[in-house]
Amino acid sequence: MKILSREDKFMEDVIIIGTGCAGYTAAIYTARANLNPLMISGTQIGGQLSTTTEVENFPGFPEGIMGPQMMMNMEQQAKKFGTRIEYATVEAIAKNADGSFDVKLSDRTLQSKTVIIATGAAPRHLGLPNEKELIGRGLTSCATCDGAFYRDVPVAVIGGGDSACEEAGFLTRFANKVYLIHRRDELRASKIMAERALANEKIEPVWNSGVEEYLTNENGEMRAVRLKNLVDGTESELEVACVFVAIGHVPNSQFVSGLVDLDENGYILQVPGRTATKTAGLFAAGDVADHYYRQAITAAGQGCAAALEAERYLAEHE
Ligand code: NAP
Repeated sequence: MKILSREDKFMEDVIIIGTGCAGYTAAIYTARANLNPLMISGTQIGGQLSTTTEVENFPGFPEGIMGPQMMMNMEQQAKKFGTRIEYATVEAIAKNADGSFDVKLSDRTLQSKTVIIATGAAPRHLGLPNEKELIGRGLTSCATCDGAFYRDVPVAVIGGGDSACEEAGFLTRFANKVYLIHRRDELRASKIMAERALANEKIEPVWNSGVEEYLTNENGEMRAVRLKNLVDGTESELEVACVFVAIGHVPNSQFVSGLVDLDENGYILQVPGRTATKTAGLFAAGDVADHYYRQAITAAGQGCAAALEAERYLAEHE
């Protein structure tokens, strides 16, 4: 099928939604293929790595690199080859009869021949009643962003994965005590991160425990958590000034409904071994489609793959 010609000045060749590792890599590749990509930033500019500290496992950085710095480097590299970035959020995508896409922002609609969805995933919360009011008042998912506000006070991290261990370790720079509250009696985190966390004398694991309630002070700020021991059912209160939630992520896929299939957790389903989705010209890369690896380097790899697939799709359909 032919799609609208390149000469249509309002028609983009490729719109990339999301500015994490997958999005920037897709931008670098499509820009260098002369496709003049337009990125839509989303609300978390730089993606999840912009909220982490040291990245030690991205090849090419033997001394490690700070996550925010790495994302600034990626942005600079994408812009160097002509990538344009629009600071906005996509509300919906629709496919037109000629095969092109409408990409709806809050104030206008863009058109593109291909779209790469690289919107990543957002931190999961427990779903407790007063969560929304407490965000920014002692409840957060970002130790890098908020850790320094909690000096010489006890704080808690919820979760048992790499993120929880990493956050807990970072928080020991400020807090006088970091409780690591986990629902089981062993960590899911990689051996090296788990060992590092458990060896840190400021980190105290609280095993087999779930947070039942966030308790507030007279100013509506976090004061303590009500814990339930999941083995014997006993309840207790733990005084903490801030709770850092690190219990995984929810893919940012809600806005693409209809054009893609989602798995039971909301991850976009790709054609096996590819970044193509069930809709021709629409590709998905990185954590929005990957519940298995969820690494910066695998997201970047998928961004590259999506760019190459979009480029070939355009070559075949113009
Ligand atoms: P994760 O590995 O999925 O771990 C989530 C943790 O939260 C698990 O311990 C889980 O408990 C717990 N959890 C989930 N839902 C919960 C609930 N409703 N209530 C209480 N606890 C709950 O997520 P992650 O730690 O964010 O890591 C995601 C990916 O990023 C992983 O592949 C990880 O390796 C990677 N990562 C790597 C690094 C690094 O290498 N520097 C840093 C951070 C993340 P269970 O264990 O009982 O399931």
